[in-house]
Amino acid sequence: MAANQLTTLSQSSLQDYVDCARRFQLRYLEKLSYPAIESEPALENEKHLQEGEYFHRLAQQYLIGIPQEQVAKLANTPNLQRWWENFLTHRDLRVLKELGGLYPEATLSAPLRSFRLLAKYDLIAVNNGKVIIYDWKTYRKRPHNEWLSARMQMRVYRALLVHAGAHLNDGKAFEPEQIEMIYWFSDFPTEPARFPYTSAQYKRDWDTLLKLADEIKNASSFPLTDDRQKCVFCPYRSYCERGVRAGDVDQADPQGEMEAEELFDVNFEQIGEIAF
Ligand code: SF4
Repeated sequence: MAANQLTTLSQSSLQDYVDCARRFQLRYLEKLSYPAIESEPALENEKHLQEGEYFHRLAQQYLIGIPQEQVAKLANTPNLQRWWENFLTHRDLRVLKELGGLYPEATLSAPLRSFRLLAKYDLIAVNNGKVIIYDWKTYRKRPHNEWLSARMQMRVYRALLVHAGAHLNDGKAFEPEQIEMIYWFSDFPTEPARFPYTSAQYKRDWDTLLKLADEIKNASSFPLTDDRQKCVFCPYRSYCERGVRAGDVDQADPQGEMEAEELFDVNFEQIGEIAF
């Protein structure tokens, strides 16, 4: 498929493009299947991925009003039990649940040049003139805020909420200053990462997104990244002759370690992309 036939962009496809244009091409244009196991130790990582996915389901069921005791029965592994107990200590959520205005697993989209920009949010909470984007992370390490703030997810989620969230705000677009994004870590429940938003950041983000959309649309080649560290956990190593065996997360440097963790992050957007 050529780039001008692609219809949808998301934080994950844009992150791939920024990390390595070749990876973007293989995954989203050539649609090469995404291998399940990408780093060692494979079985343990696979299990962590499934549990992360399951945890997101538990959180969603709780937020749409299924009784807590009923949801708790589904937390049936040590990781899930610990994450679930941590989740229930989340004071903000208890308060928000009483206030209402919660939109779990909301999908927003808006035109971005000739593409549609799509995002699926774990939770959008609208209350008292503020709107909070929550994202649950089941990472085994608590990432630095600087790393999180540089990810495409941060740019896409907040900017898209300004562009496409009016129906959550009586038909009026949210002001960037009303928005905050909070990453909540299931293994570090008392260390959430909070990111307020400003009009200047919004302008910078949207301009970046437009620039990336133009670049992708007009790209005539998708070069391999020069940063070979990006290849260590990449599922397409064998296509690029950049190694056959996946890297070992335990031996990665801090940045590589977080990039590997991202592989175990649940990505509902990718489910959306497959369905489109
Ligand atoms: S192996 Fe390296 S060059 Fe190839 S797609 Fe992955 S990150 Fe890009």
